[in-house]
Amino acid sequence: METARRLSIRAKYPFLPESREYLAKHGLTIESFADPVYSRIVERAKARILDAANYGDNIGPWNLSDDELVELASFPLSIVMITSIGDRRLARRFALAESSLAVKLLEGEGEEVVLKIAREVFGMDVRVEKRTISGIEYDYSLGLKDYLRGALLFNKPEWKLVNRIVERGRVLVTSHELIRLMKDRIMDYVLELIDRAWGKPPKLPKPLEDAVKELRENLPKNLIEIELGSELGGPETWPPCMRAIRERLLSGENVSHFANFALASFLINIGMKPEEVLSLYANRPDFDARIARYQVEHIAGLRGSRTRYTTPSCSTMRTNGLCVKGGELCGGVRNPLTYYRRAMRRKLKLDKDKAEVGRERGEAGGEAMREARDEGGNAAAEGQSDNTR
Ligand code: SF4
Repeated sequence: METARRLSIRAKYPFLPESREYLAKHGLTIESFADPVYSRIVERAKARILDAANYGDNIGPWNLSDDELVELASFPLSIVMITSIGDRRLARRFALAESSLAVKLLEGEGEEVVLKIAREVFGMDVRVEKRTISGIEYDYSLGLKDYLRGALLFNKPEWKLVNRIVERGRVLVTSHELIRLMKDRIMDYVLELIDRAWGKPPKLPKPLEDAVKELRENLPKNLIEIELGSELGGPETWPPCMRAIRERLLSGENVSHFANFALASFLINIGMKPEEVLSLYANRPDFDARIARYQVEHIAGLRGSRTRYTTPSCSTMRTNGLCVKGGELCGGVRNPLTYYRRAMRRKLKLDKDKAEVGRERGEAGGEAMREARDEGGNAAAEGQSDNTR
C-alpha cells in the first residue's frame, strides 16, 4: 500500500473520467507504443491482465507502479490488449480484478475520495451520516433506490431491507458497506469501457503485437467456460417479472398467453428441463398436459423449427404489462435473462469457498456473450407466435 499512498487519485483509479481526460492531454496513441521509451507501460499493462487472470477477486496492489503515467496509461492499454485477445472470459475477469483492486484502495481512502467517486462517477445519492446504533458505526446514508440496486442481489440477511435502519427513504450504511456496493458499479463500468472497444481491435505496433502474443501463451488455461446453466438459480435469482408470473401460476390464477410464453422461455433459457417447467403450469385452471408439453418443447427447440425461443426483452415485457415497477428494481437490464445472470454471478460469489468457482462460472465468456445477445434482443425469435397458447 506504500506505493498507493504516493499515487494521485487519477492514477489509483484509472477508470475515472478525469483519468482519461488527463491521459488524452498527454497525446499518447497506440502508435506511441512502438517507441521503447514506453515499455514500462506495456509491461504494466501485461501485468494487469496476468494478475487479473491469475488472481481475479484476490488481486492485491502488489504490482502498482509508482509512476503516474505508467498506472494511468496501462489501464486503457490493457483494454486494447484484451480486445485484441478477444476473450470475453478474460474481459470479465479483468473487470472483476480492477473493481476488486479499486475497492481495496478505496478502503484506505478518506471520506472525500469515496464520496467523490460514489457521487460524481456513479451518481449515487449518498450523504455523510455519522451515527452509532446498537454498537454499529454508520458513516453514510444512501438513497433507497441506490441501496436496493446493489443490495437486492445479495443473499446475506444483513443486506435485506428489513434488517436495515431506514429513515425517510434513506438507508444507513457503514463505509465498508458503501464501498462494497460501489464494487459492482465499478465492475460494470469497466466492462462498459471494454464493450465500447470490443470488436474493433486496432492495428498494433510490433511491441504490442509481441505483448499480446506473450499474453496468449502465458494466460492460465483454467479460464474455462463453465455454463451457468449447470448451476440453476432458484426464484430468488429470477427477475421480479418472472417471479410475479410464477406466483400467479402457483396460486392457480389464469395468466395471459404471453405471460406463459415469457416465463416458459425464461426458464428454458436458464437451463430448466421441460418437465420442470411443465410442473409450474400444472396449477393452471385449463391445464392440458399434452398441449402444454408440446408448447414447452417447442419453446425449448425440441420440436418444429428446432430453434430455442429467446426470452422477450424488457421492452416487450413492458408493452405487455408484465414489467414490475417499470424495472426500477432491475439495475437497467434490457432482458430478464441479464438480471438472472447478474444475480447468479453474485450468488455464486457469496460463499467465500465457492467464490473462485463462482467467478469461473459467472464471469465465463459464454455468459457475457449471452448477455450481449440477450441485450441486443432477438427480435425475430421474440416476434414468433406465443407457443404456450
Ligand atoms: S426490467 Fe426487465 S427484468 Fe426487470 S421486471 Fe421489468 S421486464 Fe422484468
